[in-house]
Parts: sequence; structure tokens; C-alpha cells
Amino acid sequence: MAGETLNPIQQMVLDALAKRADFVPTTPELADEIEAHLVDALEPVARNYSPTNALFITKHKLGSVHSCEAHHVATRDTFAWSVPSVRGTVLHKAIELLLNVRSSRSPGDLVDDALDRIVESERGTASDFIASLSPAEQAELRAGVVDLVTKYEDSFPPLKPEWRPVVESPAKVNLFGGAVVLSTRSDLTIGHPGSKVIIDMKSGRVTQSHREDLRFYSLVETLKSRQAPRLTATFSLESQRIDTEAVGLSTLRAAVHRLVEGAQLIDELDRQARSPSRRAGVQCRWCPLAASCDEGRAHLNGETDNDY
Ligand code: SF4
Repeated sequence: MAGETLNPIQQMVLDALAKRADFVPTTPELADEIEAHLVDALEPVARNYSPTNALFITKHKLGSVHSCEAHHVATRDTFAWSVPSVRGTVLHKAIELLLNVRSSRSPGDLVDDALDRIVESERGTASDFIASLSPAEQAELRAGVVDLVTKYEDSFPPLKPEWRPVVESPAKVNLFGGAVVLSTRSDLTIGHPGSKVIIDMKSGRVTQSHREDLRFYSLVETLKSRQAPRLTATFSLESQRIDTEAVGLSTLRAAVHRLVEGAQLIDELDRQARSPSRRAGVQCRWCPLAASCDEGRAHLNGETDNDY
């Protein structure tokens, strides 16, 4: 980046992600301690699962069971592409191309390349979903992602190869011989194990739940690499602002607590040990039960203000 002048937002992001002079990496003993505590707490839940019937935990599953159990049960075995989800997929692919192509490309070119790559890909059904959109909807999708890629370029300092930027980096930890699986896919990571920064890109505003998502990511990274990441960050492309949190014992403990509580809830609901509770919130907007749910309808009609 020598010779490049950063704009004020890029400088702010760079400053927010910079390693502090007093930073000390965590030791493998901390990972051992965290894992021992986690395994001890999850053991009663793990008994109900096996490697062939694993409890598979993602940030989405944890977020959904902590938000509204009925919504979690109604959506746990389904996934349907939507314009927002496919927009995120195209955005991440465009950023991946931006970080890895050697020539300079405009946001529009990057998005076109990303769309081509996804449409050609056999990997999922995003290509089918994109093909199902009308030409006008496809144009709106392209315009929306071009806007986000432009904001990304206007906000992030150019990432040097030696910072080891990786887009869509998956991580997995098997516990109890694979009966419990913790799985993450980080939007962007920078740095080496022990000093890693995990970054989530959001097209909308930053909320408290995003910090909780990233604490789960930190926990998985700690268990996987035996060293905690240095920092997590949520970047809102909408507001071009970054929210960072240093990773330490307190954030990892909070992640363990939320994970264990979430696993217990998921287990109870999987076993149909009780009826799921309902809790209105932002998820009511896309909940398949909304039409028949009194709590959800009241929330959507503005009668409650539980917008978690
Ligand atoms: S509409 Fe809202 S409160 Fe009702 S089940 Fe769905 S998410 Fe829960």
C-alpha cells in the first residue's frame, strides 16, 4: 500500500483493525481450558446424537433458536434462496475476485464476473434461483451488488497479500467423535493463527446479535487453531462503519455459555421434549408462521417493540 493515500473511511477501518502494541496472543492452554469446559457442559446433550445423526451447529441455527423457537423449528430443515441471500453470495464472490484478480476491475465488471461464476457453478442452487429471476429482477440484483462492492472498495483499505486475506473461509470442529459439529464460514479473515481478524460484512445495519455471531466464530477458531483470534469486526456496508471487539477470555466464555444454552434448546426441540416458545422480533418479517401467529402479527402490526 506504499504510496497509496487512504480516504478517511479506509483509514478509520485500517486503524480499527490494527494490532495494538500491547497485544499478547493467547496460549494453547486457554484453548484446552475452553474445550474442557465446553465438552463437560455439552456432554448430556451429545448423548442424544451420534456421528451419523450429528448435532450440527452454525451461527444461523444458534441465532434462530435464541430468537424464536417456533421459527427455528419451522425453518430448521429448509433453505430457500431469496434476493437478500443471493445478493450476499454474489457480493462475497465479487470481493473474492477483487482480492485475487491481478488486474484492476471496476465494481460492475467484478459483479458480472461473480454472476457468471455462480451461474456456471454446479455447487448449489443459487444459479437456478438467479435464472428464475426476471430480467428486471436480475438487473436490480446486479445494481444492488455493484452498490455494495463500490461501498466495500470505498471503505476498505487495499488488503496486502502478506496480510493473508481469505474470503468465505470455512472452519469446522468435531466434538464427541463427530456427534456434535461446530461449523462456520467467515466472510473475510486476515492474519495468521493467534493474531487473526475475523470480519463479517453486512449489507444492513450492525446489531448486537452480530457480535454474538462473531463470538461463536472466535470460539470455533480457538478450538480449531488452539489460539484465539485477535479481533472480530462487523462492517456495515450500508453505513460504512466498523464495529470491532477484542477477543479474550470474557468473550470466549460468553460464546461458550450461548453455545451450550443454544445446544440444549435445539436438543429439547429436536426430541420434541416440549412445545417451542414464541418470541416476536425481526425474524417475524420472513417467518413462514407469521400469517397464523398472534405474537408475530402483533409485532408486525407495530403493537410490540421487541425488535431484537
Ligand atoms: S411470526 Fe414471529 S413470533 Fe411467530 S413464530 Fe414466527 S418468528 Fe416466532
